Amino acid sequence: MIIIMSSETGEAQIKAVVDRLAAMGLDSNVSQGVERTVIGAIGDENKIDKESIQALPGVEDVIRVMKPYKIVARSFHKGDSVVDIKGIKLGGNQIQVIAGPCSVETQEQMNLAAQGVADAGCRLMRGGAFKPRTSPYSFQGKGEEGLTLFRNAAEKHNLPIVTELMDVRMLDTFMEHDVDVIQIGTRNMQNFDLLKEVGRIKKPVILKRGMSATISEWLMAAEYIAAGGNHDIIFCERGVRSFETYYRNVLDVTAIPVLKKETHLPVIVDPSHAGGKAWMVPALSRAAIAAGADGLLVEMHPNPCEAWCDADQALTPQELKDLMGELKGIAQVIGRDI
Ligand code: PEP
Ligand code: MN
Repeated sequence: MIIIMSSETGEAQIKAVVDRLAAMGLDSNVSQGVERTVIGAIGDENKIDKESIQALPGVEDVIRVMKPYKIVARSFHKGDSVVDIKGIKLGGNQIQVIAGPCSVETQEQMNLAAQGVADAGCRLMRGGAFKPRTSPYSFQGKGEEGLTLFRNAAEKHNLPIVTELMDVRMLDTFMEHDVDVIQIGTRNMQNFDLLKEVGRIKKPVILKRGMSATISEWLMAAEYIAAGGNHDIIFCERGVRSFETYYRNVLDVTAIPVLKKETHLPVIVDPSHAGGKAWMVPALSRAAIAAGADGLLVEMHPNPCEAWCDADQALTPQELKDLMGELKGIAQVIGRDI
């Protein structure tokens, strides 16, 4: 950590900073320039409470040198980590497209959806049984029954299931139903108690980006999961809020190479919640794969007009199939399989 003192700083203020660092178990290197005095803190930066140093008289700025996340950092693991989901590898050379409806509705709808996912050549299926809806009067999901409907449909095609966990009290239920991948949604990215709990289990977790979260906050949220021992984490960019109203969110394509630099963990993209319209999904998907995403999370419904949730953004089974064909071309150009 580097502490920059203001130009009018006196000896007493410098000493106060050095003493505070010493109390935290760190040595100091004081470098007195013509304009400024800079103090380098030597030792374990994690022992320093940045705010308490920042608050000392004469301190102008405090700059961290170390990253606030460790296990998820690329420096912790130089190669790309691959998450194994029942033998399906996410994060390796093969791009994985996870597709399915926004929410689980009926057994028939899930059966048709599972058929569509398998026919398109996707290897994993999504579907929400517990839905985080903006209005308390909107359909909230089928709940536990939805997990059963989902499993019944998916197992006919050997598709592992991806579904959202909103409440820590439902974790045991998710374990009983042997959910294959737990999704943490945008609204819960910083639900630290939930993150800690999924950190203690042995299940892959898709961590969606908070709709207003910085990359650093997102990485630290993942660190909460990793710190508990669960390193099977997949980042999912799903668009961030902006002033624009034409589309639901802004797909932050820039986040893909940035995350690839900062973390060894797989990165996927949800083009459906980013654009919010089915017609935007193919273009955003192509951009995501071209930019280096390891996979996609795409909404598809056997009959989008009748979807109980997010009808506007659901692809039809045929559109999903066509998308998979288009993505094959992009994958080939960048030397990957799909
Ligand atoms: C979802 O995937 O169905 C969902 C609710 O996504 P998000 O958390 O990104 O809004
Ligand atoms: Mn949705």
